[in-house]
Amino acid sequence: ITHLVWLRNDLRITDNKALHAACSNPDARVLAVFIATPQQWKRHHMAPRQAAFIHANLLEVQRALAERGIELVSQECSDFPAAVNWLVSFCRQQQVSALFYNRQYEINERRRDEQLEQALTGMTTCHGFDDGLLLPPGDVKTGSGEMYKVYTPFRRAFIQRLTESDVTSLPPPRPRGKVIANAGVGAFNYPPAEAGAAYPAGEEAALRRLRAFCREQVADYLKLRDFPAIAGTSNLSPYLAIGVLSPRQCFNRLRAECPRVLEEPQSGAFAWLNELIWREFYRHLMVAHPALCMQRPFIAWTDRIRWNRSETDLQAWQQGCTGYPIVDAAMRQLNHTGWMHNRLRMICASFLVKDLLIDWRAGERYFMSQLLDGDLAANNGGWQWAASTGTDAVPYFRIFNPTTQGERFDPQGHFIRRWLPELAEVPDKDIHQPHRWAQKEGRELDYPLPIVDHRQARLDTLAAFEAARRFD
Ligand code: FAD
Repeated sequence: ITHLVWLRNDLRITDNKALHAACSNPDARVLAVFIATPQQWKRHHMAPRQAAFIHANLLEVQRALAERGIELVSQECSDFPAAVNWLVSFCRQQQVSALFYNRQYEINERRRDEQLEQALTGMTTCHGFDDGLLLPPGDVKTGSGEMYKVYTPFRRAFIQRLTESDVTSLPPPRPRGKVIANAGVGAFNYPPAEAGAAYPAGEEAALRRLRAFCREQVADYLKLRDFPAIAGTSNLSPYLAIGVLSPRQCFNRLRAECPRVLEEPQSGAFAWLNELIWREFYRHLMVAHPALCMQRPFIAWTDRIRWNRSETDLQAWQQGCTGYPIVDAAMRQLNHTGWMHNRLRMICASFLVKDLLIDWRAGERYFMSQLLDGDLAANNGGWQWAASTGTDAVPYFRIFNPTTQGERFDPQGHFIRRWLPELAEVPDKDIHQPHRWAQKEGRELDYPLPIVDHRQARLDTLAAFEAARRFD
């Protein structure tokens, strides 16, 4: 008998349900496969640096599996239909008796898996696992059996279910024979890029970071997490996004360091768990509302908003040239590193939608094209939250003021200075409104003037939302 593990968004060998199940029969020959689908990635605007990160992590998985006598074959197919065809013939050729994979929850991925299962009927048995979440979608429901539409009650119910569930992490597979040669993974047919030295590939690097964070930093998380100049968050998102790390590993490590995490809602540990639960929330929501994968807003009437279609405004935002220092510094961080601090993602998303009145989908796409941690559910959830088109309990009139957000969360401008060297000489107290200072001092700044007046933009946005809602 031959067992085939299809690795997708689970590029690790520890705590991998599909891999573990495939290896549970000591007599089976176990093979693993990864299929790159560059055309599909392009359609979903996946960042080249994320593809590079996948490649680097795939090499690590291949090495770790080879040490255990398991071959990992890497194949490239243009898109999902081609991948299904290739897999079917691979299963036939290798006489695969059972196929194991961890479920992905986006609509195209789910359709692909259904097609594959159909095509393999009678030849290969398929085993799908809920692996990339602490609790499977559909496991946390309201009294009337529906998915929650608001986060806080979801979290309450989620924690209850979590205490009743087995979320133990699984060990890596035992060696199954001689170490085999590493076949290597050819370059993907995707624009070349670097993932960046800040995120070394491999689950060992990810686990080291997780351990250090839970031991040394999580206690201060609540205090520090909103200040982008401070490394107060875990920086684990690139690993979680492609499954180099599992949320069970995160939760179990957290619980090992902070055994009372669930009883101490005011603790840093609980605040961090809360973020992991946001991650779950958006995935559960996407499964309950597949339209979220199809560029639809959660609140239907927001589709009637008359958006500003200015390419110039969009580009100014993308390039970090809006004249609002906190927004510009954040966008440059994104463009240079592929990562952006959560507070800044909220500020930049709010600015694009509420100050420039640009369709949130343009921002969602652009983020995806740059992010090392690009993840449809989290990115879509974040954008719809910021745009007030989503499940947020606060309605559309929450509009961030980019200047006061900067003053609150980067008071001395340490973060801003890191990314906007042209503001080096502006004193701390003026860093959020540098032109006011320049004018007073009779200086010239090589930095754009604000492209909108926030007070006016706020009024225009409120009017645009109200006009759209009136016909609801
Ligand atoms: P930590 O604060 O250490 O949090 C731990 C983990 O929890 C993160 O690694 C992440 O997996 C998860 N998480 C944290 N916050 C959120 C959240 N609000 N929603 C969902 N999961 C969360 N996160 C992504 O992983 N991919 C995205 O594409 C993405 N796009 C976003 C777009 C917008 C507009 C916004 C507002 C948020 C987005 N987020 C996204 C969520 C969040 O900003 C990042 O997960 C976080 O900044 C990653 O840094 P960290 O690993 O240090 O987070």
